[in-house]
Amino acid sequence: MTSATVGAIDIVAWFVYLFSAVLFVVGLHFMNSPKTARKGNQISAFGMVVAVLMAFIVLFAKGFVNIVAVVVLVVGILIGAVAGVVSAKKVKMTDMPQLVSVFNTVGGGAAALVALNDILTKEGTPDIVVLITAGLGILIGSVTFTGSLIAAGKLQGIKWVKKLNLPGKGVWNILFAVLSVVSLVMLCVQPEQRLLWSILTTVFALCYGLVFVIPIGGADMPVVISVLNACTGTAVAMSGLAIDNVALIVAGALVGSAGVTLSILMAQAMNRPLLSVLAGGFGGGADAAAAGDGPEGTMKETTPDDLAVQLVYAQKVIFVPGFGLAQAQAQRELADLGELLKGHGVEVSYAIHPVAGRMPGHMNVLLAEANVPYEELVDLDEINPQFPQANVALVVGANDVTNPAARRPGTPVSGMPILDVDKSQNVVVMKRGRGMGYAGIQNELYFEDNTQMLFGDAKKSLQSVIAAVKELLA
Ligand code: NDP
Repeated sequence: MTSATVGAIDIVAWFVYLFSAVLFVVGLHFMNSPKTARKGNQISAFGMVVAVLMAFIVLFAKGFVNIVAVVVLVVGILIGAVAGVVSAKKVKMTDMPQLVSVFNTVGGGAAALVALNDILTKEGTPDIVVLITAGLGILIGSVTFTGSLIAAGKLQGIKWVKKLNLPGKGVWNILFAVLSVVSLVMLCVQPEQRLLWSILTTVFALCYGLVFVIPIGGADMPVVISVLNACTGTAVAMSGLAIDNVALIVAGALVGSAGVTLSILMAQAMNRPLLSVLAGGFGGGADAAAAGDGPEGTMKETTPDDLAVQLVYAQKVIFVPGFGLAQAQAQRELADLGELLKGHGVEVSYAIHPVAGRMPGHMNVLLAEANVPYEELVDLDEINPQFPQANVALVVGANDVTNPAARRPGTPVSGMPILDVDKSQNVVVMKRGRGMGYAGIQNELYFEDNTQMLFGDAKKSLQSVIAAVKELLA
């Protein structure tokens, strides 16, 4: 192949990758609103298909692939496609956060491999820009790989993963962070020894990913997940810079910057300094949960009929959705109950805690799916002053985000701003039984004088309450 043909292929590829990158940006823009999010996803996915096809054309046109490479590519694509289709179809909405963590694992790992391959197979000594960008791709991608794997295990509720703990956790973080950075610097200083330094960077960064996420548990996981998300994007962007692929650079930069913004928002929402997360300076894992003294007293139970009476005679009702709503897939029932009450003249709003559920924006997505008007979703800062005026706060599968234990030190949720549900005139909590929240501690709210429990699956309970309300209003 003449150098003119190679040059022409490179130019065409550059424009096609740029086109893909534009599609990613346009797709992301459509994801601004739940109404257009599906379209945005399709546009971005199309952009990705175009980029992958172009990569194939380049590989074949330049004669980079032998028969072994073709087999590896085809098998890889088949495995990836089957895994993607099966997970998209089979994985329940409530298991999405784990799936996203697994995708982060794969994304980070892939970025690290691309960067490793680039550094190790380059003819001659790679220039300093390639060394730095590929080195960062290896480092950040490897941290993301192991960190996201542990995060996925924790989100899946795998017991042995949740129980993992490290003595002197902060020390390990600092040790492996320093070793990873020193190896990366050595890679740039001694490029002739790049095999050794890139392997060491990979190993130390993989260890840092483990020690970074293992000690963090309880209510602090949302911050970690957002940070890992940012890492995936950054690793991909660095690998894109190393191999000079504009589609990878833009896709990575979009994910990375969105992840950084989300990390800052989550850290603010949880009242945690972001730097402390990276240094492992906080994290209430199994130890903290075990150390917490459980609240004492008895829980008072109520019935769907009693709750219906309270709701029908109320002037102001605040719904407080949490992970249990997603688990029960009861968002439509909750929206129906809201409509019924509004039709009867009751003021209804939905209190949205930024970390309720298992992924950022989880409650917004669920309630949008049930067509709850956006203006009825009220953020924490705005809704908290309204709780004292609420005749009933109806907590549907929310636990940690309502736990008053967060207001005092020494618990896994300490410092996290909570929804001040306990300040309402009456509180009714729907949950299946006496199960704990994600942080693994009992909720003091359930033992308060103004709290009543309605035990059972949230969907079934809401259906019973709706029937009882309809009967009262008939
Ligand atoms: P929690 O996980 O604290 O509590 C959920 C409650 O729902 C449980 O106590 C459970 O009790 C109940 N529940 C479960 N299934 C059902 C059902 N079918 N019907 C009725 N109730 C049910 O949820 P929150 O939303 O209050 O808090 C979120 C927690 O998750 C926080 O600690 C947050 O930090 C963490 N987290 C959040 C992430 C995010 O990005 N949003 C990511 C990772 C973690 P029972 O078993 O008795 O029914």
